[in-house]
Amino acid sequence: MSLKFEILKTNGKSRRGKLYTKHGVVNTPAFMPVGTCGTVKAMMPESVAATGAEILLGNTYHLMLRPGADLVEKMGGLHQFMNWNKPILTDSGGFQVMSLNSLRKLKEEGVTFKSHVDGKTYFLSPEESVRIQHKLDSNITMCLDECTPFPATYDEAKKSMQMSMRWAKRCKEAFVEREGYGLFGIQQGSVFQDLRQESAEKLKEIGFDGYAIGGLAVGEGQEKMFEMLDTAPQMFPADKPRYLMGVGRPDDIVGGVLRGVDMFDCVMPTRSGRTAQAFTRFGVINIRNARHREDPRPLEEGCDCPLCTHYSRAYLHHLQKANEILAVMLLTWHNIRYYQRLMQGLRTALETDTLEIFVKDFYANQNKGDIKEL
Ligand SMILES: [Zn+2]
Repeated sequence: MSLKFEILKTNGKSRRGKLYTKHGVVNTPAFMPVGTCGTVKAMMPESVAATGAEILLGNTYHLMLRPGADLVEKMGGLHQFMNWNKPILTDSGGFQVMSLNSLRKLKEEGVTFKSHVDGKTYFLSPEESVRIQHKLDSNITMCLDECTPFPATYDEAKKSMQMSMRWAKRCKEAFVEREGYGLFGIQQGSVFQDLRQESAEKLKEIGFDGYAIGGLAVGEGQEKMFEMLDTAPQMFPADKPRYLMGVGRPDDIVGGVLRGVDMFDCVMPTRSGRTAQAFTRFGVINIRNARHREDPRPLEEGCDCPLCTHYSRAYLHHLQKANEILAVMLLTWHNIRYYQRLMQGLRTALETDTLEIFVKDFYANQNKGDIKEL
């Protein structure tokens, strides 16, 4: 195993840890902004680093189609290509192939699909996904799996999970171990506890540097997701990082940390930055709402991002209304900074044994003030 993970402190199921990679340390619990096409939309990589983010997620599907893994490799890997010198995790490409591609053909060997960029046919197998992520120089490679659609019958979920476990084994065999790089296995099993357990057993038998919980936040709702998370993280070895894929909203993340999850990613803060939706300590704000038109206050009192430091809600409202690019830039920055402040708050609370107070405060504030709306 080639990624060192250290747990500094625990509180109940929650963990404060450090993950060591070739490109630096990731303090956990951690949130990874999503850099789909080798860029976090509307942000310079230097600005993403300034928000406190210590690791980015890159999308294999998008990068393999454009500009292509060979080109990224030739340019020195994704870190150098996009001027991001911190750790990078890449997904396997599987999720996008299955969700964005209506012309895909899924077989035991892998999945064939047509590129949305140029119409060319591609074949993605577990081995090929690992090879591509190697070329991208990703610090954390994710196994190719099938994200079981929701809802699925028990038999469908079982069949899909078992194929993903056979693929996980092939990924492990294809992965080239290097110091500071690692491979994560992904648990499936939909909302069936015993399938999640079976999946975890198979993954542990193969042995990974970290374990991801996949196939959640796909429409089952928060209550069902938390029900799965009440047991799923503890199905994995305590000394390895646990990553909940594609999650989520701030209260999903707090709930995940309380249940023992160490890593998260989601397009929520960046996508919301492009749709005028702001995350704040006091809940979600739609800045297009007319009542911000003459509001001289910052978006969020106490936030240290450039938007809240230098500009008013009135100005941001105006920029949004005028469809100015700066609105997206400033709001994306704020949203990513908000997520990083949330993670920093959780980490500090864990270090100082004040997690209960932090969480109580979080929920009390989320429903406070004049700005709770969606
Ligand atoms: Zn801010």
